[in-house]
Amino acid sequence: MTKQIAIIGGGPAGLMAAEVLSAAGHAVTVYEAMPTFGRKFLLAGKSGLNITHSEDFSSFAERFGSDSARLRPALEAFTPDGVRAWAAGLGTETFVGTSGRVFPTVMKASPLLRAWLRRLEAQGVKLKARHRWVGFAGNGYRFETPEGPIIVQPDAALLALGGASWPRLGSDAAWVPWLRDKGIAIADLQPSNCGFDVAWSEAFRERFAGEPLKSVSTTSDAGTFQGEFVVSKHGIEGSLVYAHSAALRDRLVAEGQAALAVDLAPGRTIERLARDLVRQDAKASFSNRLRKGAGLEGVKAALIRELVPDANRMASEELARVIKALPIPVLRPRPIAEAISSAGGIAWSDLDESYMLKLLPGLFAAGEMLDWEAPTGGYLLTACLATGRSAARGVEAWLGSQ
Ligand SMILES: Cc1cc2nc3c(=O)[nH]c(=O)nc-3n(C[C@H](O)[C@H](O)[C@H](O)COP(=O)(O)OP(=O)(O)OC[C@H]3O[C@@H](n4cnc5c(N)ncnc54)[C@H](O)[C@@H]3O)c2cc1C
Repeated sequence: MTKQIAIIGGGPAGLMAAEVLSAAGHAVTVYEAMPTFGRKFLLAGKSGLNITHSEDFSSFAERFGSDSARLRPALEAFTPDGVRAWAAGLGTETFVGTSGRVFPTVMKASPLLRAWLRRLEAQGVKLKARHRWVGFAGNGYRFETPEGPIIVQPDAALLALGGASWPRLGSDAAWVPWLRDKGIAIADLQPSNCGFDVAWSEAFRERFAGEPLKSVSTTSDAGTFQGEFVVSKHGIEGSLVYAHSAALRDRLVAEGQAALAVDLAPGRTIERLARDLVRQDAKASFSNRLRKGAGLEGVKAALIRELVPDANRMASEELARVIKALPIPVLRPRPIAEAISSAGGIAWSDLDESYMLKLLPGLFAAGEMLDWEAPTGGYLLTACLATGRSAARGVEAWLGSQ
């Protein structure tokens, strides 16, 4: 018998679940609060839509850190190659960019999303935009709709409501207290892949906000990565900072302070730098010493002055050490509304292997609203699609067992 399934949240996780369940012949309705579907997916498309990553599968799965073990079955069932084949099936060919990241050749999300929604409609999925879930109603789900409030009582439901970043695109985390009231453990949502505040002096901020630091290497508890980041008016941001954001955030929580160590001259050793610096004219200005001895000028030289005011009096060896590991003390992560993604969410302990909430049989959850995090690089979207698929298989199996 056809079962009625409500999927709440029309982002990548919810739409993928709808695809699987409608293909299995169920009557699927997707309820989405916003006037259109997949707004964050479309925003991700603005920077090219890094949909997955081409590294070998073991390395890929390890990028989810302590959540790798729980996510692995879902990722194995929908691998990065699976993501690429799926996108190709919807008319979106992909390519491997520098650094192994995978993008659609058109470098945007809209053609893929359009084809996906067409496929869902062809499979009989009812797409209900402007239907905002506002909480439970006995065994049902209460929605605000343009036609007034309604209560839906499906055979099974799947939540795919996203995290808490960029709330104006729809994922506003309003669901957190409703699930907590039902006894579900939810780790507080925190910014992930985010910038950080730094106490810049007014002069540095005015002169250098917006300036990129190119070809540097950065170190935190997360490891050492090369690339570039940007000085912002609040602090630091950009992909090289995001790679460290979980480590910096966790250290701030644990110790109240954290710093990102920047190597401003990754191509030279301390010894080589010290040798090059000591060769400079003793009467040379500090700027000239940095420029000629270490190849540093502009924002890189200014960063040294800003963070180590007595650097101009340092001996070459000591200055070389500063250049190789300049600590930028961070005060706090930027607000979650600005982050690329959020950490925290529904605790793994409260979900069974099939993504069903143990305390609420018949209710499943997928995507960023679960308690995992990953760096940028296509890991986020792949895990949202993969958990959407696995949760849908969980729904199918559970309905079959009823
Ligand atoms: C600027 C930016 C760029 C990004 N770029 C990339 C990238 O290149 N690669 C990558 O892997 N990831 C990227 N991401 C992250 C990725 O987009 C998200 O991780 C992913 O969209 C999460 O999918 P989801 O389906 O779990 O949630 P979402 O995409 O957030 O979808 C959840 C949906 O639920 C709806 N909803 C919420 N509450 C309710 C309610 N009460 N009732 C009904 N509907 C509701 C929301 O409106 C939303 O449509 C980016 C994110 C941002 C912000």
